[in-house]
Amino acid sequence: MSDLTYARLVENLAKLRMNNILPRLDAILSESAKDELNFVQFLDRLVSEEFAARRHKGVTMGIKIAHFPAVKTLEEFDFKFQPSVDARLIRELATGRFVANAENVLIFGPPGVGKSHLAIALGRAVIEAGHAVQFITATALLAALARAESDGKLDERLTALCKGKLLIVDELGYLPFEKRSAHLFFQLVAKRYEKCSLLITSNKLPAHWGEVFGDDVLAAAILDRLMHHSHSVTIKGESYRLKLKRKAGLLGDAQGAP
Ligand code: ADP
Ligand code: MG
Repeated sequence: MSDLTYARLVENLAKLRMNNILPRLDAILSESAKDELNFVQFLDRLVSEEFAARRHKGVTMGIKIAHFPAVKTLEEFDFKFQPSVDARLIRELATGRFVANAENVLIFGPPGVGKSHLAIALGRAVIEAGHAVQFITATALLAALARAESDGKLDERLTALCKGKLLIVDELGYLPFEKRSAHLFFQLVAKRYEKCSLLITSNKLPAHWGEVFGDDVLAAAILDRLMHHSHSVTIKGESYRLKLKRKAGLLGDAQGAP
């Protein structure tokens, strides 16, 4: 290849914004020569590298935008520890198909059993599947909605919260909602209904959501929309950390525990 051709190739790759492979061009050329690739194989290698790098950057950016409170992955989740969790269902959810179909996911269970872990891990998997995700705790969500309402910007805020294809609301039910907050949450659920997905974790089963929202009728209306197209994961058993401590002999047995 003449210097002129090489210079034109570099210039045109830059114009095409193939910026990820540009610094690797020399290496790709010599590797391809060494591997005796034909034209199609070489082009495939070049384009695949650019795509892989873009995808990696997209996932990293998506994880940043999601604002996860911690790094948790499905690989780290010990399914044997929590046999009440259907590993097959979780792996199916991790494909992101439920987001493409605007379905919801509800994860119930007592404290410490891995609800947030699964929510974050599924969120990451959904980003890897190519969808935008936002993570927020129920408390922060309601504070943001209440603030937006008092600033006269509720619609704007609701629209912003519906930008991501998946909104993860963690820890619903730990604190009961005030009446106004319950109505704001209803508006969010109604806005997303059948358009984009919600993943909600809660320590309270649906039968107790009347207490959470301080209103049985409103709770029923919220649950009706949430559960219409949804997958539920109910985790039973005790806290993962307590169980680990018990195993290590740091606590008494379940009966002796406070
Ligand atoms: P929850 O949200 O249900 O209160 P978390 O998801 O915060 O519980 O879990 C508490 C801690 O235990 C976290 O550090 C989490 O990563 C870990 N954990 C819980 N369950 C498992 C599990 N089955 N395998 C691995 N780690 C787990
Ligand atoms: Mg949690």
